[in-house]
Amino acid sequence: MKTLFLALLAGYILFRSVMIYLSYKGKKTAEKEALALKYFTPEEIQKGEEYAKESFGLSVLQRAVDFVFPFVFFFLAAKPLSWSVHEFLKGMGITLVTLQVVLFLAVYFVCSFLVTLPFRFYFGFTREHKFGFSNMTQKEWFLYTIKQFAVGTVITSIIICAAYYIFRRPTSFLWLIPVVLLAFEFIITFFYPYLILPLFYKKSAFEDEKYAKVMREVAEKAGVKVSKIFQINESKYSKHTNAFFTGFGPEKSIYIFDTLIKTNTPEQVASVVAHEIGHWKNNHVLKNIALGFAGSILMTWLVYYTFNCGLVNTNQISLSDIAGLPFISIIMTIYSFWLGPIENIVSRKFEVTADTYEIGMGGHPEIYIQSMVQLAKDNRSFLFPHPLVTFWYASHPPILERVKLGENFYKEKK
Ligand SMILES: [Zn+2]
Repeated sequence: MKTLFLALLAGYILFRSVMIYLSYKGKKTAEKEALALKYFTPEEIQKGEEYAKESFGLSVLQRAVDFVFPFVFFFLAAKPLSWSVHEFLKGMGITLVTLQVVLFLAVYFVCSFLVTLPFRFYFGFTREHKFGFSNMTQKEWFLYTIKQFAVGTVITSIIICAAYYIFRRPTSFLWLIPVVLLAFEFIITFFYPYLILPLFYKKSAFEDEKYAKVMREVAEKAGVKVSKIFQINESKYSKHTNAFFTGFGPEKSIYIFDTLIKTNTPEQVASVVAHEIGHWKNNHVLKNIALGFAGSILMTWLVYYTFNCGLVNTNQISLSDIAGLPFISIIMTIYSFWLGPIENIVSRKFEVTADTYEIGMGGHPEIYIQSMVQLAKDNRSFLFPHPLVTFWYASHPPILERVKLGENFYKEKK
């Protein structure tokens, strides 16, 4: 196990560097270029490339810092930071173990946040402004980022506290960890519009009848009962576009980003809605949760065996000590990297299914193509990603592949 993990760690550093290089290079073929020029102007293609490659060196540095941070916290110095923080908390007379965990997490996450803040600022604010995406002032951006960090930290901390509570029981209780994660996944997925969305967005009833009418028609045709259509104010933050679908049982609500209707016709928005219906009809949400459950079972045992395989002195630090968290985070980073493609292959398959449903539903491949092209233009997508990078990292097929799917339908229709 020790050798395997060290080999995977070395492989990770090597292979990830290669992937970073390939994602910078991309891969253009004559066929892809011809297809791109059919729908995009050379300027639009170039803009996508510029956005993807903007300050590439800095993004590499950001990834390196993210990777090194837990190592520094856990391994560096005669007495690692991790230990010092843990002992300081114990020294303060805090005897309640869960409180020790919470305070350790607060220190760990705040340090990590501060270290990565310059990068977040550059990529989340400076670059987004440079390319005309962001609608936030500097102050608004900072408030938004801190809020996002706070919400993320609270949710993650609850999960980690539960995990450590289980780590302190005998090993036979380990299976409870995936179960707890599964419960959380359900709560977050189904209560997202009620718990998290209102923290960041204002939702209002969707009023534009031109759009609402076409969306209702599509839903009706698909046999989905739409109880409400909401609009949420993404334009407060950015120009990025999106739409999603939610609800228990047969009654669904549609959420539309207000940015989506600024650049898309009612037919294109309805086409996006049909795609989301495609995901629902094929139970992709539940299938994703099931896949995540299987993944977390595997990960729990990988963490358990790797932690105890002799890389650290477990007499000094055991799995149930919160000071070992940075090491767990390193273990999870390595395995997630090597297991990631499985999740992405499934995700891309789901996207093709939803796209196929979308085209079949509307019966107008050209509208599907238009909405894909608009999506790429709105988000300045890089049109020529390297196939290996797509295989490893992409949750969605590349835009040109999706356009091609539409074209194939169009040919068949004719
Ligand atoms: Zn999708």
